[in-house]
Amino acid sequence: RIRETTGARELPGEPANRRFHLVQAAPVARNIGAEARGLITSGEGTYVVDENGRQLIDGPAGMWCINVGHRNEILANVMRDQAMALTYSTPWYTSNEPAETLAEMLSARAPGDLRHVFFTTGGSSAVETAIRLMQFYNNVRGKPQKKLLISRQGSYHGSTHLTASLNGRPRDHDWMDGVDLVRKLSSPSVFHGAQGLSVEAFEDHLVDEFRRLIEQEGADRIGAFIAEPIQASGGVLVSPANYLKRMHALCRQNDILYISDEVVTAFGRLGHIFASEDVFGIQPDMITFAKGVTSGYFPLGGVMVSARIFDELRKSDHPNATFVHGLTYSSHPIGCAVAIRNIELLEDGLLEHAREVSPYFQHRLKTLEDLPLVGEVRGMGLMAGVECVADPSAKNPLNLDLAVGKRIDFHCQQKGLLVRPLINMCVMSPPLIITRTQIDTMVAVLREGIASTANDLINEGLWRQP
Ligand code: PLP
Repeated sequence: RIRETTGARELPGEPANRRFHLVQAAPVARNIGAEARGLITSGEGTYVVDENGRQLIDGPAGMWCINVGHRNEILANVMRDQAMALTYSTPWYTSNEPAETLAEMLSARAPGDLRHVFFTTGGSSAVETAIRLMQFYNNVRGKPQKKLLISRQGSYHGSTHLTASLNGRPRDHDWMDGVDLVRKLSSPSVFHGAQGLSVEAFEDHLVDEFRRLIEQEGADRIGAFIAEPIQASGGVLVSPANYLKRMHALCRQNDILYISDEVVTAFGRLGHIFASEDVFGIQPDMITFAKGVTSGYFPLGGVMVSARIFDELRKSDHPNATFVHGLTYSSHPIGCAVAIRNIELLEDGLLEHAREVSPYFQHRLKTLEDLPLVGEVRGMGLMAGVECVADPSAKNPLNLDLAVGKRIDFHCQQKGLLVRPLINMCVMSPPLIITRTQIDTMVAVLREGIASTANDLINEGLWRQP
């Protein structure tokens, strides 16, 4: 049988279902082709609409990315205009105006001496680029043994082989292979890690752990430390106040490049274009970014790179030392044109709005902590994590197999809110245009969704209220 619209033909045993052919992100082996995921058909501002015509607040802003909101006509027009002017030019042999303008804009806004940018197609390719640049840098400076990568439990840095090896969330590596170049430190999450220590003592413990690892492996073997300022996909894990500064100081003392992965935190999520210096007081050697740079309207990412690294490379007396690294869609003119206009929108009141509305967002979500299933609500700026536990006083995790986040998301969708479920957590990172009234609705629906989930767990005999 040939289907009329798509020309598709079913092989024996296949369902007559378009979705069967689409491999979704992170599929479970036995469900491939039968993933039950909602179909989103349109979006406007803070909302998306699903296949049943239900309007939902976009709690995660797509995937931490739709910063200016859906259906922004200004960005849509820029994309069209740029496509009609110059759709594409190769970054291997040519340059283009939007890419050069955006590079200048970003270097004017990045901290310290981060004066250069290499554009990629998203976050994974940005992190991959940063790591390959570290490798090239150390090869050119005659330190080929200085290549180890230090990341942390609770991190997410991407889905390519090398970047996924840096990831450290529960279950990230249960069924997947990685590379043997990575050493992992503890997550700096106060909620999970402090275990009776004061926050200050926990911070000392984390810094000591890094110091000991450097002694053990040898500074001359460690190429880079990579860290999200806030571990986003790990569940919005916030670290002790001076932790990042002290980790940065250790990197500087030991000639270890500090890569700040701002794929989530840049472009307004924390109220600034970049958060590393403005929020956390550090000047990294590289910053990786993606997502919010185009508010998700076009796949674009990049790495800001310190002038110090390029100054060092320029000293090379190897005539053929080439950074053989480039993507067909690096410096894509449409992506860069969108990013330029997006940054203008952010700076024309949206960053200010995000900074202004963030305390309200955090305060209202925090009220959910009175629910017996909620262990902690934490966050910063317009990103927050709601973590469910079996017993809040003991902070003991719920059985991961209960998929509590998914249950909450299901209930919330019935009532008009899309949630990002993360095992036993829900992550909220709405478009920066969100209003106080929409925040009130979001929190009210979340409260109902968590309460309904608690009832389900009790009725199914899976949980008892402590
Ligand atoms: N780094 C961080 C901190 C991220 O959160 C993500 C994606 O969520 C990535 C890197 C990977 O980005 P992408 O999915 O665009 O490849």
